Parts: sequence; structure tokens; C-alpha cells
Amino acid sequence: MIEDKILLNYYAMNPFVAKHRPWIEQCRVFKPHLLSEPVESALTKRSPFGSGAWGEFFDELEADIEADFGGEKKTLTELLHLLSESQSQEERAQLLEAINTNLGGIFAKYSAQTLYMVAGAASVENRERSYKHPMEGANKANQIPDSVVDILHKAVNEVGGPLTKRYYRLKAALLGLKKLKWSDRNAPMPFSDTTIVPFADAKSMVLAAYESFSPTLAGLVTTFFDQRRIDAPGIKGKRGGAFNYSVVLPGNAPISYTFLNYLGSSRDVMTLAHEVGHGVHGLLAGAAQGPLMFHAPIAYCETASVFGEMTAFNFLKKQLILKGDKKSLLALIMGKIDDVINTAVRQISFSNFERRLHGMNLSYTTWSEPKKLSVEELNNLWIATTKELYGEDGDVFTYENAEHLWSYISHFHRPFYVYGYAFGELLTQSLYAEQSRIGDRFESLYLDLLKSGSTKNVVELLAPFNLDPTKETFWVDGINNGLGGMVNEAEKLSRELGIVV
Ligand SMILES: [Zn+2]
Repeated sequence: MIEDKILLNYYAMNPFVAKHRPWIEQCRVFKPHLLSEPVESALTKRSPFGSGAWGEFFDELEADIEADFGGEKKTLTELLHLLSESQSQEERAQLLEAINTNLGGIFAKYSAQTLYMVAGAASVENRERSYKHPMEGANKANQIPDSVVDILHKAVNEVGGPLTKRYYRLKAALLGLKKLKWSDRNAPMPFSDTTIVPFADAKSMVLAAYESFSPTLAGLVTTFFDQRRIDAPGIKGKRGGAFNYSVVLPGNAPISYTFLNYLGSSRDVMTLAHEVGHGVHGLLAGAAQGPLMFHAPIAYCETASVFGEMTAFNFLKKQLILKGDKKSLLALIMGKIDDVINTAVRQISFSNFERRLHGMNLSYTTWSEPKKLSVEELNNLWIATTKELYGEDGDVFTYENAEHLWSYISHFHRPFYVYGYAFGELLTQSLYAEQSRIGDRFESLYLDLLKSGSTKNVVELLAPFNLDPTKETFWVDGINNGLGGMVNEAEKLSRELGIVV
């Protein structure tokens, strides 16, 4: 490892090294935690046969899960998809029962052992590497101070929880149900707008949405269409989902590809806006920072995409307001709240489960050694951490057939990855709210943020916007303004429609 003194010389003498100082410093953050060279060498050689291998085999087993449903064999992915689409409460309950039953038995046992291997291996290594607590390594990799991670969890637990319960009470009323079963959580609204949006219209909507706050970004998005770098049609045989892949080619030439399964729902329009958001982020950061530093860490790699998606959402909202179609407007807002809660609140609920798994106490204040937990104990922990944010049994939800759902969350095999989703979502909601306050200056500040790639930590990144994520009010305001604002809007619309008295 190069000594600090020598490195400082390089920074002073060589502009190329100086430019890459943030990348070098980020690598060196882990210097105090390195072990001797022979030990590191042995650990690296041994690593393909460690807890990661349990996770790999888990993926194979999970892909084999199949259940009979409606006289047909369905994979886990298909069952989960049907669950989020079904308009029938009875069918949703049957789907969740099929999912939960198939996740139980031998799969849950294997999954429990995998989690024990992950937590146990991490615990031994953390101790040897002198980490102060199990999350320190992940927080350092994310470039987020420990105290900020703590207040994020605290704010979501204290403010996000009550708001979540309020939202699902409204959702129950809109679905015409007294209580929600856990299987109803992602149910679509019975009056959702099912108009198909042709791709050409989606393109003009997304371009107009980007144009409304940044002509520069709209220009970049136009190039994706002109250069035919978006694979849009949802056709049989194509892999599912949507993603963007950006890369910096030799000569510092960033290029971006977007993959979709576009079928024409308003959600698909927002997905297009989301993925091209990743694309413009990749192009701007790629050109400014080059291949080593263009990729933002998990905590803010979703900023441009979530921001783009919010803009498209507001664009779609305005159109429905102009049309006077209040029912579709309500369905659109409810769908968006479902998404935000699933990203911000649900992932913190996951994170609470994970923190407990790695040895955190009931009041989330101290750590001890992780213990081996049986399937039964994990089931109980899962339901307990779910109830912390979603309410006691019978308050808003009943939790039948939900106890095994921890067992298929493969993100737990990468310790402390999940809170990054909540972090990114809430950070972006706060940033989005700044747009109207900052006005014309916003665009250039925002472009600078995207261009910085991984060269800044989150505190530096938000300083130009006068936002301070080390303060609890930042997160509380983010939740209240973003999520809270949408829940208020949905409640108001419901009253206007006479759906809820
Ligand atoms: Zn994304």
C-alpha cells in the first residue's frame, strides 16, 4: 500500500492522478481494515467457497420453485406478478398462500442456513478487520456516515410508519374492504386507467417531461431515440423487467443502452422515464469522470432515474387533471404511493429485519454476535419487523400466509444493501421538492450533481442545494413532503369522488 506522503506527491505532480484522487481515497478508506498480505491472499482464494456460494446455490433453488395454480405450473416470479395484478381478493389470498407454502419446507430451511452463513462469516471478518459494528463496511462503501444511516432508519420508523398505516386504511376503503390481508397490499385499484399508451406517445410525454425542467437532459434523451438505443417492445421470449446499461468506451466516450418490456400502461411510461434517467446520468457522469468514477454508489445511483420518473408522473397527472378524469388520477396517485412505500418503507422494514439478524437488539441501539436462528424464529422476526411499520395484526393488515416471505429476499446475501433503496428514494423526493424553491438555478446545480458520479459523498453532493442529510429534519421533511403530500392528495380526491366518507 502506497504511503500517504508519496501519494500526496503524485497528486501534486500528475494531473491524471489528481483527477482520480476521490477514487483512490475511496479505495484507501478500507486501508485500516486490511489484514496482512498472506491472510488477504488466503481469504481471496477461499472466497468462492464461502457464504457467497450459499447465495449462488440459493438462486438456483429459487429458480426451481414452482407451484400449481389454476391448473398450471407457475414460477415464483409468475405468482408474484399475478398477485400484484389480480382484482380479486380471494384469488390474491390463494396466490399468497401458494407462494408462502412453496417458500416453506426445505427452501426456508436452506434459506435460514444461508442467512446464518452470511451473518456468521461477516461477523468473523468484521471482528478481524476491526470494524466497530456490522454496518460500518457497507456504509463506508456507500459513502454515507453511520449517523446518517441511523437517522434515516429512525425517521422512517417514526414518521414513515404512521403515514404508511394511514395510506393503507385509505386503500382498504377504496378497495371496499374493512381490513386488508397482506395479499392485498399491492392490489391494483378497481378503477385503474387501462388505456394503452402507444410508444410514440410515451416518447413525446417523456421528452416533454424532461424538457419541463432541463432542456439539456431532454436533448440527451432525444439521442437515445434517434440512435435507436432503446429496446422497447415487450415480446414473448424476452427476459423480463427493465434496466439501463451505461458504459464509458475507450476515448472517454460514454454510451447508454436501455432495455424495456413496454406494453403501454402508465406505469410503463414512468419506467421509460426512469431508465432513460439512468441513461442521462451515465452519459453526464461518464463524460465528466471517466470509467473509474462515473458510477454513483447505490445510495444515489437512483437519483436521476427516480427524478425522471417523478417528472413523468407529474406530467401524466397534469394530463388527467386537464381531462377532468379524477378516478384515473386517483388510481395513478395510489399506484405511485404503492411504489414509494415499497421502496422507502418496505426496504427499511427489510433493513430492520436484517439488522436484527446480524445481532442488533430489540430497540436498535446495540449489537451483539449474530445467533443461528431457526425457520420458526426467522418467521417470528419477519412478522415482528413487518408489524413495526405496518401495524399490529388486525389494525390495518392481517398477516396470514406471510411468515415465509423473508426466505426469498436474496438481497440479504449482500449485507446492508437494502437500506440504500430507501435512502435513494427519500433523497430524491427531497431534491425534487427543492426544484420549485430554487427555480431557474436548479437545472445547472442538478446537472453538476449528476456529473459528479462517485467523486463526492452524500453530504458534499447535497450542500449546493442547502440540503443537509446529517439532520433528522431532512429525512422527516422528505417523508412528509413527498409521501405525505401524495397521501393528502389521494385522501382529498377520494372525498371529492365520494368514495370515502
Ligand atoms: Zn433504477
